[in-house]
Amino acid sequence: MEEKDLKVLRHSAAHLAAHAILELYPDTLLTIGPATEEGFFYDILPTKNLKEEDLPKVEERMHEISKRNLPIEHKQIPKEEACKIFANNPFKLELIEQIPGETVGLSIQGDFRDLCKGGHVSSTGQIQHFKLTGLSGAYWRANRENQPLQRIHGTAFYSQEELDEYEKKREELIKFDHRRLGKQLDLFSFHDEGVGFPFFHPKGKQIINIMIDFMRNRRRNYNYQEIATPILLSDQLWHRSGHYAYYKENMYFTCVDNQSYAVKPMNCPGAFIVFNTRPRSYRELPLKLAEFGLVHRHELSGALHGLFRVRAFTQDDAHIFCTLNQLEEEITVILKAVFEIYNKFGFKEIELNLSTKPAKAMGTDEMWEKAIKSLKNALDKFDMPYSIQEGEGAFYGPKIDIKIQDSMKRKWQCGTIQVDFFQPENFDLNYVTPQGTFERPVVIHQAIYGSIERFFGILIEHFKGDLPFWIAPIQAKILTITDEQKEYAEKISKELLNAGIRVQLNETSDPINAKIKSTQGERIPWMLVIGKKEVENNTVSLRTLEGVQENGIPLNELLAKAKELNKF
Ligand SMILES: [Zn+2]
Ligand SMILES: [Zn+2]
Repeated sequence: MEEKDLKVLRHSAAHLAAHAILELYPDTLLTIGPATEEGFFYDILPTKNLKEEDLPKVEERMHEISKRNLPIEHKQIPKEEACKIFANNPFKLELIEQIPGETVGLSIQGDFRDLCKGGHVSSTGQIQHFKLTGLSGAYWRANRENQPLQRIHGTAFYSQEELDEYEKKREELIKFDHRRLGKQLDLFSFHDEGVGFPFFHPKGKQIINIMIDFMRNRRRNYNYQEIATPILLSDQLWHRSGHYAYYKENMYFTCVDNQSYAVKPMNCPGAFIVFNTRPRSYRELPLKLAEFGLVHRHELSGALHGLFRVRAFTQDDAHIFCTLNQLEEEITVILKAVFEIYNKFGFKEIELNLSTKPAKAMGTDEMWEKAIKSLKNALDKFDMPYSIQEGEGAFYGPKIDIKIQDSMKRKWQCGTIQVDFFQPENFDLNYVTPQGTFERPVVIHQAIYGSIERFFGILIEHFKGDLPFWIAPIQAKILTITDEQKEYAEKISKELLNAGIRVQLNETSDPINAKIKSTQGERIPWMLVIGKKEVENNTVSLRTLEGVQENGIPLNELLAKAKELNKF
């Protein structure tokens, strides 16, 4: 069984990489080299940092050592002996000291020795299908105060086919990386003037606006009301909300009129203030306050990753104030919206997780039971499997996490539905019952995109840059065969614009083939080609991004088709 364990193979491959590095760069200090989900890494301290160009050489040496087919031995040795072997390596000495007991594990292949718990294949010859995938920075024991190290990444498989498949997928991921497509398609950029804060260009902002319009449209259908709350709010509020105690490290602070203010990392307290502006009646419940709230969170610069991890983003946040009895109906409606919205973007595989009461929790058992039953009942109404994570809920309420799977089979958690018993207490939220008494509502925190910026990045990769018609920033481009068709092209352009279609005119004098090529490069869904015949017959030729061509379409037919595709 162990023969088939990928972790064993990958950890052995990490030793192989370290072995090769020591043969090539003998003064390198090794630290640790574990297997990961994707492969393995080894953190090293070289005398001179390795470059990407050095990796093929290391790989080649790894193959050589593999061919030597050295047996891999593993034994326990006294700590004293280990300290002698690793006398020149302070990292290994530190590790030896921290291992409990009198002995430590040593792995041996040829003249290469490494400190190790064990779990290897039996000889280097069994490690054949591997690849070094890159270099990055790391710190000793992942602590930024410690020695910076170089991390060498790689992966290994039991067969060449699996490795080939992995590499193909990796190439795809690099090719369709949203950071790369974002530059190519002129959608957004990042700058040193604001590290981790995205700049959206006209076409990128257009896409964001459509995402927001679509969300607004759905929210209208489900009786949400939109609010806007301030970005800067006094420290007092953040003390009350608990963010000061638990989230301070990730917040930005400033001073206004000698008072300390924080840039909001979350929108919830703003919504509670709006709720509390006047007495609320049971008749108003469920009250659904939605906000496109711009939040700022201080992420470590090393953790930033394109639009997937930024320091400022907009949440499609909503807070639903309802009674415990209304919970099931409200969750049902949210789930319905969740499926509609994800499906519209082509996300059909949706994973749902219900997290229940943890050991330490606030509120009565009765409240929890009732809330969890409501969530389950709501989930059961849909033909969607879901899993239950017992005890994984937050201390203040149960939740449903929602993951989507993209076209490259990666899973993303975007949406959350979180029930909250705590903040209604904390912010003294209440409503007047039919009997004239005061009761606390339950709050549901809800987001479907999660971060609009991150969802945008996911969409770009999911569609591999070819956005569908309804969300493409430029939907159609008009290409004339000669300048003689210019007047007719302008007329069509106007009609499409009036119908709400985002259209552009290619006004260059390039030959038609060059025009088609450049439009394809811009990934514009529709090319409207106009020549002499089209002008005479009052038609257009439509060529789609997929290469399907339809000639002689009457203008009104084209407009109807565009309007239909634009619907949401
Ligand atoms: Zn090992
Ligand atoms: Zn919230």
